[in-house]
Amino acid sequence: MARTEITTPEVLDDEGAAELSLRPQRLSEFIGQGRLKDALRIAIDAALGRAEPLDHVLFHGPPGLGKTTLAELIAREMNVNMVPLSGPALEKPGDLVRPLTTLRRGDVLFIDEIHRCRPVIEEFLYPAMEDYRIDIRLAEGPNAQTVPMPIEPFTLVGATTRLGLLTAPLRARFGLVQQLAFYPAPELEVIVRRTAEVLRVPIDQAGSHEIARRSRGTPRVANRLLRRVRDFAQVRANGAISAEVAAQALALLDVDEFGLDDMDARILRLIIEKYDGGPVGLGTVAAAIGDDATTIEEVYEPFLVQQGFLQRTPRGRIATAGAYRHFGYRPPTRTDQGSLLEE
Ligand code: ADP
Repeated sequence: MARTEITTPEVLDDEGAAELSLRPQRLSEFIGQGRLKDALRIAIDAALGRAEPLDHVLFHGPPGLGKTTLAELIAREMNVNMVPLSGPALEKPGDLVRPLTTLRRGDVLFIDEIHRCRPVIEEFLYPAMEDYRIDIRLAEGPNAQTVPMPIEPFTLVGATTRLGLLTAPLRARFGLVQQLAFYPAPELEVIVRRTAEVLRVPIDQAGSHEIARRSRGTPRVANRLLRRVRDFAQVRANGAISAEVAAQALALLDVDEFGLDDMDARILRLIIEKYDGGPVGLGTVAAAIGDDATTIEEVYEPFLVQQGFLQRTPRGRIATAGAYRHFGYRPPTRTDQGSLLEE
C-alpha cells in the first residue's frame, strides 16, 4: 500500500536525493543521542589508536532517527568505505560473496533491516563476522563440500527497527549495541535550523520550534516538514519561516499539533470508538485499518507509545486517557489495564 502521509517516518519515494544532501558529514555534526555518540566516539578512537577495524555495531530504533547516517559517519571517521545492503534484498549467500570479498581492511558493510535477513544469510554471516572467513559451497545440496575463504577484517554495521526479532546468535556477535531514541523538541529545533541553513531558507527560532514539535521526535520528518513549509513560505509569504507561517503551512498539510497524522488518528480512533479503548489485538487493528501489522507495529506505534497515547499489553493495545482527550472524548475509568509488554 502506498503511504504518502507527510509525517510517516519512513523514506518516501521521491526524497532519497533530498535526504542525502542533508546528512551530517562528521560525527560532531550529528545532533543529539549524546550517550550513543560518546560510546561511538570512544570505540572509534580506540580502534583508530590500535589501527584495527571497529567492532561490529548494531543500531536499533524506529525509522528516520539516524541509523543509516551513523553508519556513514562511522565509515567517514574511520577513513574507510561503506557498502550498503538491505537485509530483505539478500536472497542467497551468493549475494554476499562479492560485497564481502571486495571489502578492504576496515571497511564498513552496512545491512539495513538486518532482522529481515533469511536464516541462510545469517548463518553465512557468522564466520564472516567472527573469523573473517566465508564458506563457499562447491555444489548444491545439504552434503555439498565447502571451502573456507578468508576475507579482510571489516566492520558490520546492522540497523534494525525490531531488536526483538533478531536471533540471539546474531545479536551476540555485535560488540556494540546502541539504541536510538526519539529526539526531544529542542534537539529537533537544532536539526531544523541546520537543515534550513543547508537549504538557505531564513527561519526564526519560533518557526523552527513550531516545526520541531510536530515532527514525531524524528529528524526525517522534521526535515520533510521543513521542505514543505519552505514551499509554502515562498509562495504565500515572503520566503521566510516564522511560527505563524509554519503553523499555517502545517495546518494546510493536516499535521496536528502533536505531529499525529491520519494513520495515527485512524489507529487510535478505531481502538476508542470500536473497541471501547481496548485491549484489542494488533492483528485486529491491522485488518480494520487495512495496513499490515508489521508496519503498524514498527512505524506508527513506537511514537504513539512514547507520547503516552497507546499502551502495548500482553492482551492487546489499549488507548490511554491521553488519547481519549486528544480526540475530544472523556476517558473511561479503568481498573483492568494490563502490565506493559516489553519487546
Ligand atoms: P534511519 O536509517 O534511522 O531510518 P537516516 O539515517 O536515514 O535514518 O536519517 C533520516 C534523515 O534524518 C537523514 O536525512 C539524516 O540526515 C537526518 N538525520 C537523522 N539523524 C540526524 C541527526 N542526529 N542530526 C541531523 N540530521 C539527522
